[in-house]
Amino acid sequence: MYLFSGLKEQLQSYLDASQVQEVEQAYVLARDAHDGQLRSSGDPYITHPVAVAKILASLHLDHQTIMAAILHDVIEDCEVTAEELTDKFGERVSDLVEGVSKLTQIKFRSREEAQAENFRKMMMAMVEDLRVVLIKLADRLHNMRTLGSLRPDKQRRIAKETIEIYAPIANRLGMYAIRQELEELGFAAKHPMRYRVIRDSVKKARGNRKEIVSSICNNIQSRLDTEHIVADVTGREKSPFSIYQKMLEKVGEKTKVFDDIMDVYGFRVTTDSEDNCYRVLGQLHNLYRPVPGRFKDYIAIPKANGYQSLHTTLKGPHGLHIEVQIRTTTMDQMAENGVAAHWLYKSGNDINRAEIRAREWMRNLLELQKNTGDSLEFIESVKIDLFPD
Ligand code: GDP
Ligand code: MN
Repeated sequence: MYLFSGLKEQLQSYLDASQVQEVEQAYVLARDAHDGQLRSSGDPYITHPVAVAKILASLHLDHQTIMAAILHDVIEDCEVTAEELTDKFGERVSDLVEGVSKLTQIKFRSREEAQAENFRKMMMAMVEDLRVVLIKLADRLHNMRTLGSLRPDKQRRIAKETIEIYAPIANRLGMYAIRQELEELGFAAKHPMRYRVIRDSVKKARGNRKEIVSSICNNIQSRLDTEHIVADVTGREKSPFSIYQKMLEKVGEKTKVFDDIMDVYGFRVTTDSEDNCYRVLGQLHNLYRPVPGRFKDYIAIPKANGYQSLHTTLKGPHGLHIEVQIRTTTMDQMAENGVAAHWLYKSGNDINRAEIRAREWMRNLLELQKNTGDSLEFIESVKIDLFPD
């Protein structure tokens, strides 16, 4: 089958025919340039850039970004030059490809230095053009999805870097869906045994609590119906990595155990307006008793990455804890895709706000970078910013 056809179908759903054609020309160049090269899985190399492009196409990124994604390894791995790319596809695409290549090119003396320097470069590239980092994140995501064919020690090193650098960046940009997948794949590769044990326990617990989840869901839904508030109620499941992290958290001197964590049930309510979010909150606090100190208003005060939602915890039937997130549909799209929501949903003011925040953050980083010439020092200061807890 013609490898480009799947991507082409995706692109046709949101790009002009002429733009799709330009992307196809980039594909042809990349395919010929990578001819004869193989991935460590044994697949033809071109399958990788095409898969990266598909990830970005699912976020509806513009045609230049898609072209750069397809071409992202041709400078590094083939005989193609930036000038040639400028001639064929214009300066923007060529700059994006160069930006991505620069992030991976240099070799370092120590791993720490390499990581710090890579990270600093990523930040700088991001200030130049956010799309460079979106391509890099998609690149890492596909590499993580296909990690299995690498040597185990290499897998663990890449997994660690993914958890420590790439997932936090995705988080900082509000791209929760990608962050979560990076963390899950990273966790599975770094601690295969722990991952399997937790995943299987979740599966078992899921079976046992099906009924209680649906009965809480129904209670909430019917209360909102009675009050004529139009809203969607869904149960949400904890991921193995987030459970693992919670297990590592110590309460007093005691490590949390799996059962305690699984006794917390997660729900999400989405509705159409901010006002309704607060009305839903009022109804829920009336339906179940709220747990003191657990209410957070991230609508009035969004998180640094732009995330907005009301959080509260309720005491449910049998003393179970129910964590609820309440937000508008727009906030929900933002919560999933962050800065990328701007491309995916053709922006509204709320969504642009995430990009503005991201840019503000990046400007601050640039200032920071001016003051600290040293990359290790720089990454230390940024880490504080990325991991506020
Ligand atoms: P808090 O303790 O209520 O302030 O919230 P946490 O930071 O502990 O997060 C609780 C849950 O809220 C997480 O498991 C996520 O589901 C969600 N959440 C928190 N921060 C973000 C974010 O930045 N983006 C998204 N999409 N979800 C978030
Ligand atoms: Mn790549």
